[in-house]
Amino acid sequence: MTELPEWITWLFLFFTGACIGSFLNVCIFRIPQGKSVVSPPSACPSCGHRLEWWENIPVVSYLLLGAKCKNCKKEISIQYPLIELINGLFYMLIWVKFGYNPATLIYCLFFSALLVVTVIDLRHYIIPDVISLPGIPAGVAASFLLPGITWFDSVAGAVLGGGILFLVAWGYYFFTGREGMGGGDIKLLAMIGAFLGWKAVPAVIFFSALAGSVVGIITIIFNKKDRHFAVPYGPFLAGAAILYLFYGREVINWYLDILTVQA
Ligand SMILES: [Zn+2]
Repeated sequence: MTELPEWITWLFLFFTGACIGSFLNVCIFRIPQGKSVVSPPSACPSCGHRLEWWENIPVVSYLLLGAKCKNCKKEISIQYPLIELINGLFYMLIWVKFGYNPATLIYCLFFSALLVVTVIDLRHYIIPDVISLPGIPAGVAASFLLPGITWFDSVAGAVLGGGILFLVAWGYYFFTGREGMGGGDIKLLAMIGAFLGWKAVPAVIFFSALAGSVVGIITIIFNKKDRHFAVPYGPFLAGAAILYLFYGREVINWYLDILTVQA
């Protein structure tokens, strides 16, 4: 077999990631409305104008159209090319990290699912069950193809991830009588645990809670009028999961070093 020049692989991965990113935009837009993500075909959200193929090329069409709908001239959200760019970029990075391996394919899909969850949670404060719930058995099934993780690690990850957040949510409700953490976060961490294994769960909780607290405190300082303004936790869980995916071993060593310092 002749080796393909590396730039073709890069380009192929970026373009595939960007095309899937285009589909993720449809998911982000339609899932919270309970609509089908496969039909009808893509249309302008303002005027319903059906997109021609050349109006639907990831990133390129946004630039060609000058960020405006061809029909109604209404501005197209920057979210569309941004999601396509981010998804394309991470498909390349995941390939660089994991190479020609089933792990690359699995982690690309895992990344895309987390990207959709993140944007939907930021916009609507919900984590859709249609992603997190099937994600749990999907993660367990993936463990049979992934290197360095057994099916037991995966099942234990789902139970530990879901279980810890369930206890946190229950404890918060028990002591304050208010609902703090949503059920969506519980199911999301169960899915993350299924894909990354139980060893990832403490790290993901640690880093998401750390980043969430920093952002929460900043929000309270700059948002004095509205103290109950909620910061969605899903994006931090997703971000910590991706951090762990790329730097898992380093991350674990780092916090073990801190815990055992001068021991
Ligand atoms: Zn339009």
